[in-house]
Amino acid sequence: MRFLLSNDDGIDSPGLLILAQTMAELGEVFVVAPEKERSGGGHAITMHKPLRARPVLQQSGIHFWETSGTPADCVVIAVFDLLPQPPDLVISGINRGPNLGEDLTYSGTVSAAMEAYLCDLPAFSISIDSFENPQWTVAAEVSKRLAGLIPLGHPLLLNVNVPNRPWSAIQGVQITRLGRRRYRDRLTKRCDPFGRTYYWVAGELEEGSPAKGTDSDAVHHGYISVTPISLDLTDYGSSPSLEPIRAKLERSLGL
Ligand code: MN
Repeated sequence: MRFLLSNDDGIDSPGLLILAQTMAELGEVFVVAPEKERSGGGHAITMHKPLRARPVLQQSGIHFWETSGTPADCVVIAVFDLLPQPPDLVISGINRGPNLGEDLTYSGTVSAAMEAYLCDLPAFSISIDSFENPQWTVAAEVSKRLAGLIPLGHPLLLNVNVPNRPWSAIQGVQITRLGRRRYRDRLTKRCDPFGRTYYWVAGELEEGSPAKGTDSDAVHHGYISVTPISLDLTDYGSSPSLEPIRAKLERSLGL
């Protein structure tokens, strides 16, 4: 099997290295990752400047490149140029910190897997539910076992979150849906020594009890969360109630 790995924590992330070493037990591993951290960069692609990709080191047969691009750029460069053939599976991670609920819209980790999915490949993103002392080896083993089970040959997108616990404290695996993720104090406004205003856009997570069946709830209770992701963002439930608005809009436009 041929694996493409990427992430948003950057090429030097310990989670990426452990993932690469673990996946090398199953097949050939190609790592194409951003040269610097891109966490929170979402699904951005670089359209207005050239991108560079450099081989950085060879280690136990694993091929590593760093690029000046985003996680999504990395996947495109890898799939359409760097790899000799398309990968069988794309894995993004292991991310330091969770990627749950609506945070997926900010996540570079998940976006790398999304980009692979848009290239018609099976892919998953994997994250650890802690920024402090992440248990990389647990998530790496989850990646390896899951990679051996995913049907190859057609697109599939999974978002995996692993509780930051030792094996003995992992309760099981749940297939979940995306939960709500709300923050308070979203914006901090301060003044620099020259009297000019500056901002930090980073809030604190609102602690509450997540709804049953959600990714947050699973991880909170010690389960590995696997969420199948669709990129059809259409809100089908709202379509019927929009019909009167459509009719009025058409009339007001004289159509
Ligand atoms: Mn990250």
